[in-house]
Amino acid sequence: MALRICFLTAEMAPFAKAGGLADVSGALLRYLHAAGHDVRLFMPFHASIAALPLERHAVGFLAGIDARIGTRTYRYSVHTARLPGTDAFAYLVDCPEVFGGESIYTASPDEYRRYLLLTHAAFQCCQHMAFAPQILHANDWHTAVAPLWLRTIYRWDKLFAATRSVLTIHNLGYQGIVGAEAAPEVLGGADRMLLHQDELRAGQINLLRLGLLYADLLTTVSPSYAREIQGAEYGAGLDDTLRARSGALVGILNGVDYQEWDPRNDRLLPRHYGANQLGVKAALKEELLARLGLASGTRRPLVGMITRLAAQKGIDLLLEALPQMLATQDFSLAVLGSGDAAYERFFAGLARAHPGRVAFHQGYSEELAHWIEAGSDMFLMPSRYEPCGLNQMYSLRYGTVPIVRRTGGLADSVQPFDAGSGSGTGIVFNDYDPQAVRWALTTAFDLYRRPGTWRRLVQNGMSQDFSWQRRVQDYVAAYERLLA
Ligand code: ADP
Repeated sequence: MALRICFLTAEMAPFAKAGGLADVSGALLRYLHAAGHDVRLFMPFHASIAALPLERHAVGFLAGIDARIGTRTYRYSVHTARLPGTDAFAYLVDCPEVFGGESIYTASPDEYRRYLLLTHAAFQCCQHMAFAPQILHANDWHTAVAPLWLRTIYRWDKLFAATRSVLTIHNLGYQGIVGAEAAPEVLGGADRMLLHQDELRAGQINLLRLGLLYADLLTTVSPSYAREIQGAEYGAGLDDTLRARSGALVGILNGVDYQEWDPRNDRLLPRHYGANQLGVKAALKEELLARLGLASGTRRPLVGMITRLAAQKGIDLLLEALPQMLATQDFSLAVLGSGDAAYERFFAGLARAHPGRVAFHQGYSEELAHWIEAGSDMFLMPSRYEPCGLNQMYSLRYGTVPIVRRTGGLADSVQPFDAGSGSGTGIVFNDYDPQAVRWALTTAFDLYRRPGTWRRLVQNGMSQDFSWQRRVQDYVAAYERLLA
């Protein structure tokens, strides 16, 4: 059955990407559309998108529309833009006064208003297009108010009478907490009793919690994370609501876009390789070492990292573990990332202290990310929590052995290697503890010194398939269960 889906997202690759949400959004648009579903994806026309070479059209009948949020009225227009390489289009909500800034996200206290506008725009555009979605799919705190509005502000409209709502949690760590004075904007005239009363008494509204309370279906991006967030340790203060909605919560692992991330046809690499051409990978490693100013050496393992430098990513463990490991073990390290200044200083300091062995590239670089995936021997992801994580799955395909903490999507996508049976795809440690990181790295280095065993481990990983085609079927199945 072809489904009508209205999809709301703050970011979508390749138009605007800050993290995994963008990848999921782009993949769902691409594959749902390819499977014959009618997906109307709404996202902000971020200023950065205007500069991209996209096929883009202003939509004549979606121009100069007013949206009222609290006491203010915003006027927006809509463009459609083709997802490159497909015949799927996204709807870009154009309101320069709101989305005209340089970056996708801002630290402004007005941030939530931008996404209230996006959410209103999605409903209003459905009305203007006479598009009756069967599924209204919101993502993260930004658009988490949509399920509530479906039951309140837009309930009068028969267009939405059969619409069921879905909220996907890509990261519970970001919740969109606003002051209680935002209630009129958030509620748009609906009853204050619909808000979480304890929070309201504390002077707050948690937008993500509203989504958790009112969506018909909750999904998150791995089965393990779906379990973990129902407990206090990973629940980020929302575990009570998540436990209460346990029956409506499912985990669907993210997929990988192998058109972008496969060493057999990677556009950003000069040479390509599969599981039986590991000599090419070794040559790419040499080129990467030279490019990063690291000493050459095929016998010295190269550990790669590509990450937001945020506490979530387990960087605190590395502050303790890495200096000692570098002093006692022979390996090199290539880090690409940006984020917290203290972490950036740490890696910059490490690079200064170990010239020729540690390289730190501060910033965001798609191109260097592909090189690090291809040229590294191992990939380190010691996350404190990880809803899904993508780089460990990219690493598997690139023959770059993932060293991960057993949490969330890392636990679901990397199987611990067992040297006895030769099964497994990576090194997995349990405890959030520097000692565990040291154990994991040492274990990886020991295996690396046994070429036959190492090749087995590498090739096990390269044969894994985390393609989106299969995951998108999981989403469709979840939608269909909801509509049944
Ligand atoms: P999160 O969404 O929590 O940041 P994910 O692993 O789910 O983590 O997705 C992160 C995505 O962003 C990956 O595709 C990763 O390669 C990419 N990425 C993160 N930091 C950088 C960077 N500095 N340069 C290039 N790509 C990056």
